[in-house]
Amino acid sequence: MKRPYRTIYLEKQAKERPLTSRILERLPDCPVVVVENYKQVFNRPGQNQRLQKQSPALILAVHPDPPIYPGPAICQNFGQTRFVYTSFVQNCPFDCSYCFLQGLYPSSDQLIFVNPEDWAHRLAQMAEDGPLYAALSHDSDLLALQARFPLLDPLGDDWPQSPSIQAEIRTKSSWTGYYTQHQPRQNLIFAFSLAPQPLIDLYEPVTPTLRSRLLAARTALDHGHPVRLCFDPVFADPAYDHLYETFFAEVFQTLDPTRLHDASYGFLRLPRTLYRRIIQRRPNAPFLAESLQLSGETVGYTAVRQAEIRQRHLNWLSSYLRKDQIFLVEDTEASCQFADQTP
Ligand code: SF4
Repeated sequence: MKRPYRTIYLEKQAKERPLTSRILERLPDCPVVVVENYKQVFNRPGQNQRLQKQSPALILAVHPDPPIYPGPAICQNFGQTRFVYTSFVQNCPFDCSYCFLQGLYPSSDQLIFVNPEDWAHRLAQMAEDGPLYAALSHDSDLLALQARFPLLDPLGDDWPQSPSIQAEIRTKSSWTGYYTQHQPRQNLIFAFSLAPQPLIDLYEPVTPTLRSRLLAARTALDHGHPVRLCFDPVFADPAYDHLYETFFAEVFQTLDPTRLHDASYGFLRLPRTLYRRIIQRRPNAPFLAESLQLSGETVGYTAVRQAEIRQRHLNWLSSYLRKDQIFLVEDTEASCQFADQTP
């Protein structure tokens, strides 16, 4: 059987961490190379990201000063004024063709900081100043990785303890172990990214099917976890339009809309700088054939096309969801830069 990682690069100071031991014990056959600092591997120039995706390395490190970033305007804040995100896991086991991570980092290797409790501590400190909406590990699919390694365990079963924190974990994973093994917390929301199956096949290779994501979301709901649906990214090509009505019907035949926390809706969009890097690194990515255009700092669909398709989709969505359950990602022409996350 193919090993999930070609090599483990283990930073010296990560060696004694409990999470490191728990990860290593799940990868007994993987060669380990000890390094002074993770940046020697993750930041080295000239890496081939496409090759790395096929056989990534796993890098385990300790971040001495865990950063919390302000949420970018290009992302949905669900009406919260203090929106932040963390990135204690960088890069993702999936390989969506539109993924912004391809332009964000110099490497596709899987980087895990094994001190997530330090991020949690910092979030708790920030929450002392007022309500905080925190996207946890925005730069990966944490649930897909949690199926392999107990990454969330260092936070404790009752995280986030502070009622001022509303945390979100976004996922395309079909793994249900977390929902059945952990008590629900009303301020920890599991957000399922959904798309019509033909578009999953086209743009989100190696991710679970729509059906299996929906069944995972239903398991989460059945165990009392708050569930959010993310219709994001929506692909605004008229050729795909016929897919969405049956898609929404399948979603809400499987999930009782009255039990859902809420839903977000947003079109495919990328910051200009990340888009340019993605097309350099992945020139044949299928979404590049779409009619995207540059507007301000964002690459996305034209406002006219968005308005037309959004109206039709919202008509369908509002037949299932209450108005106050639907959050729209506004057309974003400016200030869509991600924070400088150079590790
Ligand atoms: S699941 Fe999200 S983070 Fe992972 S590759 Fe796809 S778009 Fe990127």
